[in-house]
Amino acid sequence: MPISGRKVPPRAIEKEQATVASTISGREVELPAMWNRMFEPRVLTDYTPDGFAKLAELSGAESLEWCYGCGKCIPVCPVDLVGEYGPRKLHRKVQTGLDLLSDPDLWMCTTCGNCLRVCPKEVDMIQIMPAAREAALSEGNVPGELQDVFEKTFRYGNALGENPRRRAQWTRDAGVPVRILSKEPGPVDVLFYVEDYWSYHPRGQEAARAFARVAHALGIDWAILGPEEKTLGDSQRLAGEKGLFDALVEDVTATLAKYEFARIATPDPHGFNALVKEYPKRGHTFEALHYTQLLAPLVDKITWAKELPYKVTFHDPCYLGRHNGEYDAPRTLINAIPGIELREMGRCKQNGYCCGGGGGGMWLDGFTRDHTSERLSERRVREAAETGADTLVVCCPYEVSRFEDAAKSTGNGHLKVRDIIELIDEAMDHAG
Ligand code: SF4
Ligand code: SF4
Repeated sequence: MPISGRKVPPRAIEKEQATVASTISGREVELPAMWNRMFEPRVLTDYTPDGFAKLAELSGAESLEWCYGCGKCIPVCPVDLVGEYGPRKLHRKVQTGLDLLSDPDLWMCTTCGNCLRVCPKEVDMIQIMPAAREAALSEGNVPGELQDVFEKTFRYGNALGENPRRRAQWTRDAGVPVRILSKEPGPVDVLFYVEDYWSYHPRGQEAARAFARVAHALGIDWAILGPEEKTLGDSQRLAGEKGLFDALVEDVTATLAKYEFARIATPDPHGFNALVKEYPKRGHTFEALHYTQLLAPLVDKITWAKELPYKVTFHDPCYLGRHNGEYDAPRTLINAIPGIELREMGRCKQNGYCCGGGGGGMWLDGFTRDHTSERLSERRVREAAETGADTLVVCCPYEVSRFEDAAKSTGNGHLKVRDIIELIDEAMDHAG
């Protein structure tokens, strides 16, 4: 629907010249009345409260109407940089009649959180979008590619639709033993929640094997669930499938209850976010760490075998950085690797630019292609290349494949994409 809000200009109801009498001397004076001219109240037409009323009925979606149009959110919204989108623009569209629940804009937000960081009115897209998407789902409005992921997750417990029995297949080529709790029960310090992309995606599996070797060399007492693992489901929740997420919480916590562990570590910032923010709301509290937080305090124990002569730049994952405040652990690890030169991108840390994978965006590239000039991952890869880096370093399982594709499609094939753990694995002395 085109934006059609129309303001009727104010009409002066007093003359442009006014005769004002002094209340003291009674003397009259003729004044140009700009300073006190009365106007009839400005009338706004073509505006309707219907869209906001519909959202206000959805728990979590109320805050869109709080927007007062300051525009701070637009320059920081990653989607607006490649399209026409942002909370202020969305507010305006809903104000002028857009039904968000049936509009493509519903699926554009990656829930990256950068608008909320700057919004004076706390318009919270992290709450609005899941609530509105959940309502859209119940009306049958969902992009096909996302529906496909929901069905795969429901059926197989992972977004890729892979056989759960192959969850631990990556361990075979790790070169070190990996303990699977169902086969070797007993207390363990760190339960390593591998999540979907490190379990199944070929590039994720390489990072998982690197983690296994590093954890082994550092003497960490760790184990995985293997075939019993199901996704923690945070991206499915943010994409609107709250019912699926709640079912996953029940399954996951029932499995975890079978084992004795002190901490959970995961390579997935989305899973990490679920463990620290969403599972406790449902009565399940764990000591949860991102894998960079597990390893950063141990960095002095690493014996290095060689220098890596790489110029690298680092992409902050939205759900590790902005959502959970962790900017230092990844940088501690990167800076500890001998020979590495870290060059920050202009947009980093709190203002890091989203890769496009959050909030279900990981599975919506086909859909969003029709509404943006380029993918967010392509935009980010160009920013990375501008630093002169030869390697884009990441620590989120979504990012390696996204950025490798984007490096190729933007003509930056020289830019390698590596997880931090792969660099540590390459540089460390595994015997030491
Ligand atoms: S920053 Fe907040 S109040 Fe300002 S335009 Fe954006 S959503 Fe509205
Ligand atoms: S959460 Fe991120 S993508 Fe969504 S509207 Fe805000 S800034 Fe844009």
